Amino acid sequence: MTPNVYAAPAASPDANSSSPVACPRCNAAAVPRELVQQCAGCGRSFTLSAGPAMDSSVLPPHWQLAGPNINLKWSVVVTYRYAALDPGGVTYGTLDPVVGVAPIEQRGIPFGDVLTLTVWRDTGWVEPIIGILVPIPIAAFFVYTTVLAAIKGSGGGVIILALLAIAFGLAGAFMVYRGVKIGKRFARIAGRWTTFTVPFGQNTKFHEQLFRRCGLTPPPIP
Ligand SMILES: [Zn+2]
Repeated sequence: MTPNVYAAPAASPDANSSSPVACPRCNAAAVPRELVQQCAGCGRSFTLSAGPAMDSSVLPPHWQLAGPNINLKWSVVVTYRYAALDPGGVTYGTLDPVVGVAPIEQRGIPFGDVLTLTVWRDTGWVEPIIGILVPIPIAAFFVYTTVLAAIKGSGGGVIILALLAIAFGLAGAFMVYRGVKIGKRFARIAGRWTTFTVPFGQNTKFHEQLFRRCGLTPPPIP
């Protein structure tokens, strides 16, 4: 990415962006801690870590030690957003809506300019609901047909239908598990000039490397 994505904007920082030292859900004031903390306002858990721009004892490693770039891409209605850990910092932007490759807007925070990192998890409801509505009824249908085939005594058919029932059942169970247990994981990256929130999902490498490249030991994911 181009170095100018890290430039300070001409205007003041986003007026509506939340405080870098606040609960990501209710904006109640919070102090950085090493482990997971409970919000004083809404009672839900998150981690809040002070980065190099807030705590002078935190030193990001030299950019040449950073390792490979890590890229994330996710869809937002018709366009795609992306976030990337580049050698110099973390960049965030919107991709063109047609092929989802060319950045049409991007911002960046050098690792040394990170004020705070905040990580939290929300239950993802769409995936469990789709899991309950689609694969689980299909699995139930195959269980029913397996029983019918068994009653009729068609041996090979029973095995195929039973395997299909198991496959759809596992797919549905996995979708429910992934939504409820893993959920949607978010990282709010607050810099001196801009703040953005990245849904990093199951990419624990992004979480780990984001902290390490800021000079922090990764806290547990809430
Ligand atoms: Zn809160």
